Amino acid sequence: MFDLIIRDANLPDGRVGIDIGITGDRIAAVDAKIEASAQEEIDATGRLVSPPFVDPHFHMDATLSLGLPRMNRSGTLLEGIALWGELRPTLTREALVERALRYCDLAVSQGLLYIRSHVDTSDPRLVTAEALLEVRDRVAPYIDLQLVAFPQDGYYRSPGAVDALNRALDMGVDIVGGIPHFERTMSDGAASVEALCRIAAERGLPVDMHCDETDDPMSRHIETLAAQTVRFGLQGRVAGSHLTSMHSMDNYYVSKLIPLMAEAEINVIPNPLINIMLQGRHDSYPKRRGLTRVRELMEAGLNVSFGHDCVMDPWYSMGSGDMLEVGHMAIHVAQMAGIEDKRKVFDALTVNSAKTMGLAGYGLEKGCNADLVILQARDPLEALRLKPNRLAVIRRGKVIARTPPRVSELLLEGRPSTVDGSEYAPNIGG
Ligand SMILES: [Zn+2]
Repeated sequence: MFDLIIRDANLPDGRVGIDIGITGDRIAAVDAKIEASAQEEIDATGRLVSPPFVDPHFHMDATLSLGLPRMNRSGTLLEGIALWGELRPTLTREALVERALRYCDLAVSQGLLYIRSHVDTSDPRLVTAEALLEVRDRVAPYIDLQLVAFPQDGYYRSPGAVDALNRALDMGVDIVGGIPHFERTMSDGAASVEALCRIAAERGLPVDMHCDETDDPMSRHIETLAAQTVRFGLQGRVAGSHLTSMHSMDNYYVSKLIPLMAEAEINVIPNPLINIMLQGRHDSYPKRRGLTRVRELMEAGLNVSFGHDCVMDPWYSMGSGDMLEVGHMAIHVAQMAGIEDKRKVFDALTVNSAKTMGLAGYGLEKGCNADLVILQARDPLEALRLKPNRLAVIRRGKVIARTPPRVSELLLEGRPSTVDGSEYAPNIGG
């Protein structure tokens, strides 16, 4: 006897027609056919049942602020930074909490139940950290939220940033952030990486830096980050976010860099939507894509997970909390069009990101947390193509969001009366 059984599920690993039995807040059985009954049953009718989506890189203090105090007319990074600078002194805890909770509602509806958000600690009032710590507690029943202390204006460049970052960590922010390419000089950037890794080692915290978010091939802070990771014994606990300069680096240099990153077990977090939007802005033609070397990093055994980064904020007016939109862009920009490529992209939105965030009990195996999403698609490839509705989102064994299937009525003589895009899946032989 189970509390809930999901019947006839297709799993991301390719198994089809699987039943998932849930007892309390745990997955208790995953079998071809569960003979027992349950208080509640959901028939997945051969659709994809996945563990929830995981966003390892977001900015929840800025999200949904689009239009405040005015729109980004040029759509450039520079006007976005100027806008955030105008908005920041006017931020209140109440408004920050309200916007973050509203974003979390959207995230839940999209089956996104784990988020790592950076928190700008540049304003010494630390109202951003206060607000997001409150949000972390309030959403805990339905979203696991990790917070990164992020010195947006530079750790050494901005007066007071060293003190503010440390105070934010004292308040309970989980992770040490940084932005070495934004310090005044390359040597200041390298010094900031060392200082921040030292803080992480002393406090026993992970590290997640915005690193080399530039088209400058000489921006090589990831090398320093990997070296300091090994030096301080932080292997596996450090993430390099963006790493866009690697797109433009010399191939010979990269042939030395990637093995060093692998030795340091760096978690790589590209942000495909933002990278394709903001990189290459100084180029005329040819115009660089700017995304880091996703395929090469994966092939070297590095853990690569994709972040959403921004939704409707001063830097990015688009976004919908849908990690499949992130994966869809990654497939295009990284040119990962093969069947195995797409499976890897789906993993980068789920299991890889869970590893980056160090999540315990994540997955669809017996004993894992009963957190899962039923999608209106047959398999991960179709999910990435369709960005389909999340028919049900389950957290710790309870349905917390539902969306009806997307089916259009067709009013054409001699043609079917309805269209369901998920029924157009190709036959790829399992
Ligand atoms: Zn970011």
